[in-house]
Amino acid sequence: MASHNLAHIKIDELDVIGYSVAAEETVVAMPQLDVCFDIGKAPDQVIPINNVLLTHGHMDHAAGIAYYLSHRNFCGQSPGTILAPENLLGPIREVIDAWSRLDGNKVPANLVGVKAGDEYQIKPNLFTRVFPTKHTKGSVGYSVIEKRKKLKPEYAELTGPQIVELKKQGTEIDYPLEIPIVTYLGDTQYVDFSQLKYIAESKILIAECTFYETEHSVRAEAGRHMHVNEFAALIEKLNNEHIIVTHTTQRTPMHEIRKILKEALSPEKYEKLILFMDKRLRRS
Ligand SMILES: [Zn+2]
Ligand SMILES: [Zn+2]
Repeated sequence: MASHNLAHIKIDELDVIGYSVAAEETVVAMPQLDVCFDIGKAPDQVIPINNVLLTHGHMDHAAGIAYYLSHRNFCGQSPGTILAPENLLGPIREVIDAWSRLDGNKVPANLVGVKAGDEYQIKPNLFTRVFPTKHTKGSVGYSVIEKRKKLKPEYAELTGPQIVELKKQGTEIDYPLEIPIVTYLGDTQYVDFSQLKYIAESKILIAECTFYETEHSVRAEAGRHMHVNEFAALIEKLNNEHIIVTHTTQRTPMHEIRKILKEALSPEKYEKLILFMDKRLRRS
């Protein structure tokens, strides 16, 4: 039985499921990539995903850590892996230990501390790269990048047997290629992320845009979030094919948010936009 009414988007072969409302809960999962960005309150639908990529320690993003781990154990699954800013590893361990004592059962966990620049392998051909954000001490975002090998152009005309022969001789016939599939910014103030090519070129960008009304720019500043004006400036510099807007405030109704985004962005960028929380199954 699903515990949450989650948003659900499909982009080509990739599902994006989750829930993201500022100050309430944020969890964004991509099951085919086996990653869940932040964990929110650990909705049942994300429990089978093996890797949680935590951006920072705010309760609405991290509250479900212990439940996620414990429920996997209960269901006979392997211990979940949680990547988190390394400065949060101590408190996360304390929370898990406290829950183990409270529950009377040990909560198994695979905790990995990360900092900007780190990489972590998710699958043989898939890894995540960690980059800094401006929200809380140590806060980070994550790109998920596919590694492929591509034949060097000078060997493109060769036949199969010729290639095999070159390989036998130990010639490097291909070069590594990185394909950034998705970037999740998490909570952040405006940062010029276009300077990081793998973010600018990510096929999918999942970005927070919390505040929309002019008088809310003060709130954005205070909470270290993005206001729509900053979001628009950022988006215009990036080349993502799909942009998913998360972490929207409850202070502005969804139809207003849509209208303001349409005014703030160029038509070309607005076309690429998906408002995450507008994509929930309507319950009758
Ligand atoms: Zn948040
Ligand atoms: Zn936050």
